[in-house]
Amino acid sequence: MPAVKNIGFMSRKKKDVQNRRGKLYYSFQAISMIPLLIYGIVVIIFSSATFQKSMQQQVCAELKNVACLVDTLLDTAYPGDYTLVGDEALSLHKGGIDITSDYRLIDGIHERTGTDVTLFYQDTRILTTIKNWDGERIIGTQAPAQVLTDVLREGNSCFYDNVLIRETTYFGYYTPLRNSDGQITGILFVGKPAAEVNRQVSQALSPIVIVGILALVLVCLFSIYYAGTFLKALYGLRAFFSQVATGNLNEELDPAVLKRGDELSELGRSALSMQRSLRSLIERDSLTELYNRRSGGRRLNATAEKAKSENTPYTLVIGDIDFFKKVNDTYGHQCGDLVLKNVAGILRRHMKERGYAIRWGGEEFLLVYENCRLEEAYESLCAMLDEIRASCVQSGDNRIYITMTFGMACDPARELKDLLRDADDRLYYGKNNGRDQIVTKL
Ligand code: GH3
Ligand code: MG
Ligand code: MG
Repeated sequence: MPAVKNIGFMSRKKKDVQNRRGKLYYSFQAISMIPLLIYGIVVIIFSSATFQKSMQQQVCAELKNVACLVDTLLDTAYPGDYTLVGDEALSLHKGGIDITSDYRLIDGIHERTGTDVTLFYQDTRILTTIKNWDGERIIGTQAPAQVLTDVLREGNSCFYDNVLIRETTYFGYYTPLRNSDGQITGILFVGKPAAEVNRQVSQALSPIVIVGILALVLVCLFSIYYAGTFLKALYGLRAFFSQVATGNLNEELDPAVLKRGDELSELGRSALSMQRSLRSLIERDSLTELYNRRSGGRRLNATAEKAKSENTPYTLVIGDIDFFKKVNDTYGHQCGDLVLKNVAGILRRHMKERGYAIRWGGEEFLLVYENCRLEEAYESLCAMLDEIRASCVQSGDNRIYITMTFGMACDPARELKDLLRDADDRLYYGKNNGRDQIVTKL
């Protein structure tokens, strides 16, 4: 069964062509994905950075408020100025009251707000909520040099996001402590460990980043999908062209390509009309546009096989123009061509929905009545012969009329080649017995 083998081979080959991803596939994916990825990553990084900055500003505002609160509470609880009393064991007094060991206020603030508080007298830490690994308050230590310059000397309130206190980095707000004469006597520090602030930031940021990444993935998937449908259509066209290139002029184009309604559909339609033109060039006779003998013969074989398998009749008719040589000789070859075209037109119209007509030779035609008995074909052929007789071709002042002789054959029991011989014999008989007639049997 070579035909079956061939079909199997063709479809596998076609599938290969349809599925083979070329450079264009990867270029297309890159074109659609790379800008998206870059855009998405930039947006995520930029919005994260902006968010982080705004969170830090929030922390700064919070620390400033706490500092203000501590200052007000100290002033309310101990109205008066700060003084340092003693030479070695220093004690800090405010409004004449020793507050060196009075941690109630700053510990309460620490408990309620989670912020650490320190009071410096000049550059020395006197009261603090910050403890070392042993749980002891780190009193007596110095404020960082930068803080001393900015706050103590220059009198500015400053926010730092990287203050190192006993190996812990803090977000800290430092503000000068002033006595009633306006003199700076110390510094008030309010801060939070940076790790805790960062944890809060990342806790707030992670849903935003996750949603951003999900949106990016979604957009990428959409992009891959649409690129995929475009490429699918393109591969459909590629498979179609490769089939046409190998001579398969009956290949069908994937209907999805034509349904797209874009430039690829236009390309598909052009490809189909190219296929039709090629098929017409190969299968049709250029003068009469009827099937030529080669393609008509193939069609005839198919008709005979189908009729045999379905056990249905078909009728063959061979027709030849009478004294056509005379037409050529009298009116010229070009005029003869016009007559041939005119006759072919009548035959084609007549055979429509009955079967098909083939230009079998120079001025000889084969008519195939599909699924039709001889009597039925004979009736319609008589009408057509009348039409041929009545039809004329104008050549200058002359009107050219022609007649034709036909030989018919229909016998489901006989092979195709025998039927052809029968029809030809009957045509020959008609030619020798007056022409312009239809011969159905000898
Ligand atoms: P008969 O009735 O016995 O068929 O006579 P006839 O003259 O038709 O037959 P004959 O075989 O003697 O001549 C056929 C002529 O048809 C000869 C050939 O030049 C002409 N012919 C064949 N093909 C074409 C064609 O394509 N165009 C033209 N103009 N003439 C053609
Ligand atoms: Mg002839
Ligand atoms: Mg002839």
